[in-house]
Amino acid sequence: MLKLIRNIETFAPEPMGLTDLLVAGGRIVHLGASLGQLSIPGLEIIDGRGLFAFPGFIDGHVHILGGGGEGGFATRTPELMLSDVIQGGVTSLVGCLGTDGITRTLASLIAKARGLEEEGISTWVFSGSYGIPVVTVTGGIESDLLLIDKILGVGEVAVSDHRSSQPTHEALCHLVAETRRGGMLSGKAGLVNFHLGDGPRGLAPLWRILQDTEIPASQMLPTHINRNPLLLAEGVAYALAGGLIDLTSSAPPPEAGSSQIPAAQALKKILDEGVPLERVTMTSDGQGSLPEYDAAGRFSGMGVGKVRSLFDAFRDAVRVEGIPLPTALLPFTANPARILKLRGKGHLAMGQDADLVLVDRGTLELHTVIAKGRTLMSAGELKARGTFERASEVR
Ligand code: ZN
Repeated sequence: MLKLIRNIETFAPEPMGLTDLLVAGGRIVHLGASLGQLSIPGLEIIDGRGLFAFPGFIDGHVHILGGGGEGGFATRTPELMLSDVIQGGVTSLVGCLGTDGITRTLASLIAKARGLEEEGISTWVFSGSYGIPVVTVTGGIESDLLLIDKILGVGEVAVSDHRSSQPTHEALCHLVAETRRGGMLSGKAGLVNFHLGDGPRGLAPLWRILQDTEIPASQMLPTHINRNPLLLAEGVAYALAGGLIDLTSSAPPPEAGSSQIPAAQALKKILDEGVPLERVTMTSDGQGSLPEYDAAGRFSGMGVGKVRSLFDAFRDAVRVEGIPLPTALLPFTANPARILKLRGKGHLAMGQDADLVLVDRGTLELHTVIAKGRTLMSAGELKARGTFERASEVR
C-alpha cells in the first residue's frame, strides 16, 4: 500500500508538471517536488517517465445490477463485472436502477454497490428508478438520504420518454424539492438524475421547474443529452443558462440506426458553443441495454453499454477532437466530484484518496489504475478481477 510514483507528469486535473507522488494508507501523502532517494521497507517504486497521472475517473450513472428488460425478461442485461470498471479507468461510480423498478430492487442495488466496494472501488447509488412515485428503501426520499450512507440522490427518473410515468409538473417539483431537502440534511448532493428520452418535450419539464420554484439548477442533472442533435442543442442552451448536463458514452454501433452523437464530438460542440465546462459531466450508462436495428429498421439484437466506453470517449476527446488534456479531464474527474459532492475524489492533492490512472503519454492508453491505494491494473494488465471472473475469461 506504500507506493512512490517518480517523475510523472501530473494533471490534477490542472497541469502540475513533473512530480513525485507518494501513496500511503490509501491516500496521497505527497504530490510535488522529487523526494530523492527514499529507503522505506516495502516501498513500491513506479517509474513515471513516459506516463501521465490523472485522477481516477468517476462514472456517475451505471446500471451495476444490470438494466434493460424492455424487450421481455430475456433482455434484462447482466450485472457489472469489476474488470469493465478497471478498463474504463474508473475508480468511483454511482449505481442506478433503470426502467425496471420491480424485479430490480434498491436493496439489491446497495448490495451490489457494497460488493464492488469490497472488490476495490468506491461506490454510491441513486434511490428511485424511471417511475414516479419513486421506489425507495425506507419509504421516503428524505429518509433514504438521511439514513443510508450509499444513497446520494434520486435517479434515473425518466422524462420526455414513452417509458416514463408521464409525471405531472407538480409531482416533479415535489420530487426535486424532497431530494434537495434530504441532501441538505445529510450533507450530500441531493440531486435528481433525469433520464431524457427522445420525446419532443426535451428539457421543457426541467426549465419549468426552474421557472416555477426556488429550486436551484444544481439539484438536477439531466443525462443522455447527446441522444440526438435536437436534445444536444437544447442541452447547450440549458447549460448556458446555468444548468448542469451529462453526456452518455455508451452508444449502439453506427449501423444500428441511432441518432446519438458520439460523446467526444458532443463535448467538442458544447465547448465550441461557449458552455462553461464546469457544468458538464460524462457517464457511461454501463450495463444499460442498447437495442440494435438493421438497415430496414427491424430489431436485430441487444447490446449492452460498457463502463470502459467512458475512457474511450476521453481519449477521443483529446486525440480526435483536439481538446486540451486539463479541459478534457474535467467532465470525468473534478466536475462529477464537485456536483455529486464526493469528498476526496476527482482531484489529485495531498490528503485526497489515492485514486489514480496512469496513461501512456503517446497513445493515452491506460497503463495503471490505482484505487484507494491498491493497484488494479499495471502495465495494461489487470491485477484484480471480480469475484466470479476468471483470468482466462478476461483480457
Ligand atoms: Zn437512461
